[in-house]
Amino acid sequence: MCGIFAVTDNKNASKLAYVGLFTLQHRGQESAGMAADSSGRILYYSAMGLVSEVFSNEVLANLKGRSVIGHIRYSTAGASNLKNAQPLFFNTCLGPLAVAHNGNLTNAGRLRAQLQKAGAIFQTTTDSEIIIHLMARYRGRSLEETLAKNLRRLEGSYSFLFMTPGRVIGARDPNGFRPLVLGRLGASHILSSETCAIDVVGGKTAREIAPGELVIIEKGKVRFKRFAKPGNFTRCIFETVYFARPDAEIAGRTVQSARYEIGSMLAREMAYMKADLVSGVPDSGAAYALGFSRESGLAYQAVFMRNHYTGRSFMQPDQALREFTARLKLAPIKDLIRGKSIILIDDSLVRGTTSRKIIGSLKKAGAKKVYMAIASPAVISPCYYGIDTPTKEELIANNLSIDEIRRFIGADGLYYLSLESLIKACGNGRDRCFCTACFTGNYPAKIKSAM
Ligand code: SF4
Repeated sequence: MCGIFAVTDNKNASKLAYVGLFTLQHRGQESAGMAADSSGRILYYSAMGLVSEVFSNEVLANLKGRSVIGHIRYSTAGASNLKNAQPLFFNTCLGPLAVAHNGNLTNAGRLRAQLQKAGAIFQTTTDSEIIIHLMARYRGRSLEETLAKNLRRLEGSYSFLFMTPGRVIGARDPNGFRPLVLGRLGASHILSSETCAIDVVGGKTAREIAPGELVIIEKGKVRFKRFAKPGNFTRCIFETVYFARPDAEIAGRTVQSARYEIGSMLAREMAYMKADLVSGVPDSGAAYALGFSRESGLAYQAVFMRNHYTGRSFMQPDQALREFTARLKLAPIKDLIRGKSIILIDDSLVRGTTSRKIIGSLKKAGAKKVYMAIASPAVISPCYYGIDTPTKEELIANNLSIDEIRRFIGADGLYYLSLESLIKACGNGRDRCFCTACFTGNYPAKIKSAM
């Protein structure tokens, strides 16, 4: 996962981009960068670390320019190092070009090998660089035509931001896996991974970029152009389940309201279950538990103290760090737990190791029973579209039955939400345009070369 943010035609562009990227920080914490359109030149800066660590006042002041594109990275393709930090910048035969990418190209290996055979020298190991080499080789009559032509060669998921002098262009893949929304702030335009970043800078969301669509912002005007026939519109449902910020809007409703609804649905599906209280694994679990409590009348109780300064365990790419931060970040509040039967809700169950630790800590703190409820179906297939899930072999639901998983995590009961209820809640009962491949194994776009 990554976050992208652009602002155009604004004298405070780099400062607004800072605020936008800061708001999207939950989408990636490895590196951050910006490119600024400075009267025909593109200035750029990126470094490893959080937005607040990367951009000092001095760095922001040096990124002079009325339009800026920015990126925060969590690596799914290519190593976590400065070379792969984005936006990437190239002096091409089309002129200076900066690019920022959220997604994962499933045919990256094949395209890279073809390009290298034809003489391309790659500067990075990220799949995002491939589009630049394609554009340098296969040109059209205009930049837009060149882009359109080469985007059609990509498979997998992508939301892109491109910057050339005088122009910012956004592009979303024909399935719309990764989010991209357009907003306005006075005479400025904004492109963002999530609507919440547009809200925070004081703008208004105009609309979602459609699958297979280019949005071109030039001389203060915005144009849209189709570069590919849209495939099935399949937004990643995990955005609502886990990734996106609660105040972001997806498919016409905020993530938080969708999570309340998911909690209500869980309560309906688990009506037979008796317990003393319902709680959630922070952070997203709290919204599910509140929805459950509202529907069932069962008391909600926060039973964990969350340490907010450790980073997200799922986001740390290294297993040793992941386990360490998981232990560090959640502490049970003992007297609220002792002797109680608890329904504990988490967004998903992937490897099972985190749930096992959490349930262990509740039992150690004196919980009588812990019933685990998962706000999504069992994850049985890996993601090839930009979410860093483990391999099929490492997915616990792929290897064990529900009862075996229950025993492995040490729960007294284990329940998964049905896929039908999840889709209904995420799309407000109307919009069913979601990718659910990690729960079903039915991939909506080619994955052959990614396997
Ligand atoms: S496979 Fe799962 S995580 Fe990946 S895009 Fe589809 S729903 Fe999202």
